[in-house]
Amino acid sequence: MAGIYRLDFFVRPKDCFPTMDFRNLGLDPRVLRAVDDAGYTEPTPIQAAAIPVILSGRDLIGIAQTGTGKTAAFTLPLLTRLAAGHSSPGHIRTLVLAPTRELVVQIHDNVRDYARHLSLSVATVFGGVGEKPQIEALRRGADLVIATPGRLLDLMGRRYGNFSGIGHLVLDEADRMLDMGFLPAIRDVVRQLPRRRQTLLFSATLSREIEAVAGEFLQSPQSVEIGRRSNPAETVDQSVYEVPRHLKGAMLQQLLRDPALGMVLVFARMKHGADRIARRLEQHGVRTATLHSNRSQNQRLRALAEFKGGAVRVLVATDIAARGIDVDGITHVVNYDFPPAPEDYVHRIGRTGRAQAVGSAISLVSPDEADDLRALERFIRRTLPRRRLEGFDYSAPAPAATPDPQRGGRGGQGRPSGGAGPRRGPESRPATGGRTGGSSPRGGTFRPRRFR
Ligand code: AMP
Repeated sequence: MAGIYRLDFFVRPKDCFPTMDFRNLGLDPRVLRAVDDAGYTEPTPIQAAAIPVILSGRDLIGIAQTGTGKTAAFTLPLLTRLAAGHSSPGHIRTLVLAPTRELVVQIHDNVRDYARHLSLSVATVFGGVGEKPQIEALRRGADLVIATPGRLLDLMGRRYGNFSGIGHLVLDEADRMLDMGFLPAIRDVVRQLPRRRQTLLFSATLSREIEAVAGEFLQSPQSVEIGRRSNPAETVDQSVYEVPRHLKGAMLQQLLRDPALGMVLVFARMKHGADRIARRLEQHGVRTATLHSNRSQNQRLRALAEFKGGAVRVLVATDIAARGIDVDGITHVVNYDFPPAPEDYVHRIGRTGRAQAVGSAISLVSPDEADDLRALERFIRRTLPRRRLEGFDYSAPAPAATPDPQRGGRGGQGRPSGGAGPRRGPESRPATGGRTGGSSPRGGTFRPRRFR
């Protein structure tokens, strides 16, 4: 692989490039104005490294996690190059492929901001919504199309869109696209693009698979790697609360009494778990939305908009649904369920502490997740600090299968007795190590295993 250009993400751009300024990078003045409007004062390391390479026309592999400013790293120079050329009606000039609809929408929002002083056309293509407007947009042609591979391939297969003039291809979050099984679709799309083009590939990690994909689609790429491969951003304060599984709901409620948790993204492993967590919080007066693949595209977009706009304080999401979330100002990420894959942990906490902001990541870890926590700590080569929640009743029993009338049958706000109270009926299953958030073990036979 051609010249790895390694920068340490943990070095602030100021120390890294003492005189680095957006104005020295060769960007179009109208793009610079938009950067100014966005309030960015200096390029992030991935921007400082990638922008000149992209402007030079070379292929690029960018290894950078979300939150490092990678979207602007490819968008700003591509807009500069597009503005220097000519649009041609009916043609598409640049294609950006991304794994999820949410990410497509986020990239689109960013592109619109950065292109606000240019007259370029941008279109999006993704599944889950009507295809007509997308077909129309492809017919008209666009300077930039941002798409998920599945829907795009479907429309290309039906001969919509003229891709013969594509000059730039971006594969964003390529690692996630591979995880999601998009490689065959990407291959089919790329086969229909001109061979002479600039290709940019971004990925959070550099694996053998990513190297193979780069070998297949890129030519003599320059590589830019920001930071150590597996280390979460240092701007995120990380901590662990060890807690019996049946008390996670109660603990989350108690944590949320702290107003410092202003804008909170909660991760659940399963969709049903996410719904359950949200229901409980709503029952306790916390405005909550959910984001997972069982929800329609419109519901997901609405949930994101409500979260961004401050109408809801908590967004409960699953890993895949959260891939595209680019929301400024998330103060806390809470791992209600601890992720078994260390890479997912890194992605999750990257949703807070974005760019140079400070954020916190709180993990609620039950005894059955202790191995996953240890695996993560080996991966990031760091032990995360353990904290105890003051005033929290760690020895509260698991809710009884049959509610005890003496106790009123509902766990209230002030008494953490197993989250929002005992659940009845089919949802109340014995603890089998299953990881759906909030599954309540039956009372009586369950004794919470304790951490040392
Ligand atoms: P990304 O890694 O592309 O998801 O970007 C993370 C966040 O950083 C986004 O909210 C951007 O608006 C923001 N951002 C991008 N570049 C800069 C910059 N140079 N200075 C400050 N914030 C930035």
